[in-house]
Amino acid sequence: MTENRLTAELAEIKAASLTRRRHVLESPCGRLAAVDGKNVLNFASNDYLGLAGNREIAQAMADGALQWGAGSGASHLVSGHLAPHEQLEQEIATFTGFPRALTFSTGYLANLAVTPTLAGRGDAVFADKLNHASLIDAMQLAKANGADVQRYPHNDMAALEKMLVASPAANKLIVSDAVFSMDGDLAPLPLLFALAERYDAWLVIDDAHGFGVLGPHGRGSLAHFNLPASPRILLMGTLGKAAGVSGAFVAGSEIAIEYLLQKGRSYIFTTAAPPAVACALSKSLEIIRHGGALRASLMARIAQLRDGLAGLQWALLPSLTAIQPLIVGDNEAAVALSAALWERGLWAPAIRPPTVPKGTARLRISVSAAHTAADIAQLIGTLKELA
Ligand SMILES: *Cc1c(COP(=O)(O)O)cnc(C)c1O
Repeated sequence: MTENRLTAELAEIKAASLTRRRHVLESPCGRLAAVDGKNVLNFASNDYLGLAGNREIAQAMADGALQWGAGSGASHLVSGHLAPHEQLEQEIATFTGFPRALTFSTGYLANLAVTPTLAGRGDAVFADKLNHASLIDAMQLAKANGADVQRYPHNDMAALEKMLVASPAANKLIVSDAVFSMDGDLAPLPLLFALAERYDAWLVIDDAHGFGVLGPHGRGSLAHFNLPASPRILLMGTLGKAAGVSGAFVAGSEIAIEYLLQKGRSYIFTTAAPPAVACALSKSLEIIRHGGALRASLMARIAQLRDGLAGLQWALLPSLTAIQPLIVGDNEAAVALSAALWERGLWAPAIRPPTVPKGTARLRISVSAAHTAADIAQLIGTLKELA
């Protein structure tokens, strides 16, 4: 039977207690989630600014659907590039400060369009060991295209420089998350940029968790570090996290973006997102740009959580961002803590190896501007009680 092998492997996953299950939410994404007939406080989403449930954005999406229809009908290069897509690209370029931007249906597709398109035979890719899975897959595609791919230890600039010095490749790409998704820490972007300049390399930055949250007006991690919109930088940002909707963009120089448009397979060979999604994102961008109050309340909740959990037996990693990982260590203990919180109406997922290094199983607590001070206090109180 064709399925025999799959059955055996599924049994192995189950025996290792690694079976994954989906929770069905009976409510929109927000501070509360209705699951299995009960309401839990949601510390599990990436909706950092609470925009997924924003009424104005939902209205812009509904209006957009009525004006522009449900679907785009084709890929961007055929006939699926509608006025709302074009407008959104221009708004993103202006917002990020780059000459041009290209939008994608998901961040996964955006990442697949960059590294394998810019790096092939004879080229070299240098990637942080803790990069997101989508960047790893992009790297594998570049490798299949003949690129020399090397991974440097997390944020280790000395190791990266050694690799750059030793590489004979004329065309080099440095690829990194700006905010690491399981640790919440930042890449040293000014140092990465300096290395890119010194060794004449591209710098590909994935700002999935910084866009909307960090920097003036929520412009993201590059703006947080006051870095210029250099033609050697390609900035990828996702639009389904802080922006609260769906999709992603890559921003860069006129020429780099034109090249991705001509050659990026995951841009070319897929249907454009519904135009209503672009309408919603234009509204979301406007809210982000004027979202100082949202970011201030997010930062206040993060500070409250960090103060409240100081001195606990489990330590929060040193993160300035909405991703606040509480290190438990042991796999079973992390799962048990997550389950005990769930019992008490709090949803904070346990993350285990191989997603994170052995011995560092953790709760990945996501803070949102949608949370109230009382929500955070409840999480702190319950964790102290369970300690
Ligand atoms: C979520 C995420 C992505 C993928 O974005 P999607 O829009 O969800 O496909 C890429 N990179 C990082 C770092 C992410 O966290």
